[in-house]
Amino acid sequence: MLLEARNVAKAFGDFRAVAGADLAVEQGEIVGLIGPNGAGKSTFFNCLAGDTLPTTGRILFDGADLTHASPEAHARAGIGRTFQVPTTFDDMSVLANVMVGAFLRHPHRNDAREHARRIVELTGLRADQPARSLGTPGRKRLEIARVLASGPRLLLLDESLAGLTPGELQEAIALVRRIHQMGVTIVIVEHIMEVIMTLTRRVLVFNQGRVIASGSPEQVVRDEAVIEAYLGRGARRQRSE
Ligand code: ADP
Ligand code: MG
Repeated sequence: MLLEARNVAKAFGDFRAVAGADLAVEQGEIVGLIGPNGAGKSTFFNCLAGDTLPTTGRILFDGADLTHASPEAHARAGIGRTFQVPTTFDDMSVLANVMVGAFLRHPHRNDAREHARRIVELTGLRADQPARSLGTPGRKRLEIARVLASGPRLLLLDESLAGLTPGELQEAIALVRRIHQMGVTIVIVEHIMEVIMTLTRRVLVFNQGRVIASGSPEQVVRDEAVIEAYLGRGARRQRSE
């Protein structure tokens, strides 16, 4: 098991955004995480990546307890994550942004640049383009590139494929596949069912901070509790047609 999150909870005052969630991910998997807005998916990712301290629970990565470790320690251990609202350095070029990630494993500037160039190529970005000239899809891709350059073993993607045109979406799916083929284990939060259906064999469904269902994508979309919580009435209507 690469990642084991046990009974993770995160409370803001009296409100439990994550209310005791388990997630075990094997090396080499792509696991989907779906659920309605406000279900706690991003907060759960924050806990897994060390960006917030869980109120209770444990997070084990490759056997090491990272529950109380810093975001830097998580990155160094090999957990990389993107943010739902991408974080890029807009005054810098694409290449310089990706170098920020590359420095984690390549402390020497030339090595970092070399490595970053390979990642930029892989992700289909243009090295000399200023980050600020990218639209949201480009920034999301750039963030993936920066995180990838930091050499994660586990990549947590938080709606990184949202807001793309159909053509961009196919390219992004292909990119996630390539990253997976490089040996990176992936947990992906995504609302677009096509992405989940195409990329994952196992999905967890979050609702109100808890995992309410898990199984193959085909199984969970037929689950009554999931239809109720996540897909809503429109989906149920569609299903009975
Ligand atoms: P999701 O990613 O599934 O849409 P989030 O994890 O972003 O859900 O949010 C889960 C719930 O926690 C939401 O109701 C949100 O408003 C709340 N929440 C998230 N972050 C904070 C915070 N820093 N302080 C208070 N409430 C928060
Ligand atoms: Mg979210």
